[in-house]
Parts: sequence; C-alpha cells; structure tokens
Amino acid sequence: MLVLALQTQDPNTGSLPARLTGMALRFVARQFCSKPLALRNAQPMVTFTFDDVPASACEVGARILEQHGARGTFYVAGGSCGTANPGGSPRASIDQLRKVWANGHEIGCHTYSHSAIRYISLHELGLELDRNQAALKKINSSIVLRNFAYPYGDMSIRTKRYLETRFDSCRSSHARINTTVADLGALNAWPLQNASLDRAKIAELIAQTVQSRGWLIFHSHDVAEQPSGYGVSPDLLEWAVSTAKRSGCALTTTAEGLELIGGAARKERLAAATS
Ligand SMILES: [Zn+2]
Repeated sequence: MLVLALQTQDPNTGSLPARLTGMALRFVARQFCSKPLALRNAQPMVTFTFDDVPASACEVGARILEQHGARGTFYVAGGSCGTANPGGSPRASIDQLRKVWANGHEIGCHTYSHSAIRYISLHELGLELDRNQAALKKINSSIVLRNFAYPYGDMSIRTKRYLETRFDSCRSSHARINTTVADLGALNAWPLQNASLDRAKIAELIAQTVQSRGWLIFHSHDVAEQPSGYGVSPDLLEWAVSTAKRSGCALTTTAEGLELIGGAARKERLAAATS
C-alpha cells in the first residue's frame, strides 16, 4: 500500500520564505489563463461555496440557501469526513453530505487529505484525486466530482495545468469577481467570513457583479453564531443570499454557473458544427 507523505499544514501561515514562495507561485499561475471561457451569462450570478466541510455548513448553511431556493457547492476533502477540525468543531459525516447532495447541492473535490499541493508530485496529486473520488462515492455511487477547489488556495502553474485537465473548473482563493473571461483553472472567489467582510462590502461586491454582469463566487467554512476566523454567521450568510437574490442575480452551484456562462458558446459551437 502506498503511503503518501503529505503536507497538510497551511503553507500560508508558515515561515516567511514559504509564504513568499506561495505568493509568487500563485501570482505566476494566475498570469497564465490556459483554460479561458468568455462569460455569456444573461444575468449576473452569485455562487456560495463551502470548503472542507464543517458539519454546520451542511446543517445551517445548506438550509439558508434552500430557504431562498438556492443550492451551493461543497468542496470536500474525504479523508477528514466525520473528524473534528483543529478548533474542535465537527466536520460533516458521509450521512450529512448525503443529505446535502440529495437536496440538490453540488459536491466538489478538495483533495483527499487537504494537501498543500505545491509539495507533491503530479502522480501523488492524481492519487489524491482518485482517492477522494472513491471516498465520496459512499455518498452515492453516481457522484462524479466535476469541480475542484485548491486547499489553502495553494497552486502553481504545474498543478493548475494538471488539475484543469481533470476538472471542469478549479476555484482559487483570489478575491476578485469573475468578469468578461473566466479562468477555469483558477476561478476567482471572495472569502465570505465575518472576519473580513461586512454587509457594506458584500453589497458593494453584489452591485459590481450586477453592473458587470459577472460571476461572484463566495467561499466560506463553518456557519455558526460565533464563527471561526474562516467562517460566517447565519445572519450574514442569510443577508448575502437574500441581497444577491433581490439584486437580480442567479444563485447557482459552480456546475450550474459553468453551464450559464458557457451555454451560449456551446450552442454556437453546436450550430456551427451542424450548419
Ligand atoms: Zn480547505
């Protein structure tokens, strides 16, 4: 049995050289948009995503989205299902994820071990992806993980080029709105965290998304009255969802968002192929 020696500590909180290296790798990777897709969506879009995934995201976060007729994308690292995170709050079990999936939310890939992928070979990364897919088949045997989120936002050209061949899209942690042309190898996403966003900033982001007919992706973790530094409170999440809806944005999963931004392009290609 192959045992992988994986780096599962956040490389962005490590030594200064490690942080600087990570910043440089992410910056360079973002300059090479090797999987571009022009946005053809007819209306602005907002997507709510949750990483890791804490049980509270499945229980509270999913319910808030559903109350507004929306669904989200949950990027799961299967190796940690049912365990406690370092802060002590529980991560979702397979049974909790099954309920989320059955209610129409999307399950995405976040590696199996929540690996800092800059430290592993592409062969090891491939094994991580295969292992996660196999683990999350326990949710339902028909699940295929089509979309990926980089653990810690950690990426490089090497890993980005590989991952964009394996997935429809890869989501980064680069805090920008996707406009004009989306980079499917590194979709931009804003952190929806009480520690970094308030209602005024959320309203500003949604207004910019409406004005540019763009695609705003939020990422968060736990959903709790006293959220962690990476989490969001139920009232702030509910406010963001209702504000986006009231502003005329389509609320989509990542997979649905990809359909909407590329739908027109695909139709045109089909028409050209059959004319
Ligand atoms: Zn994560």
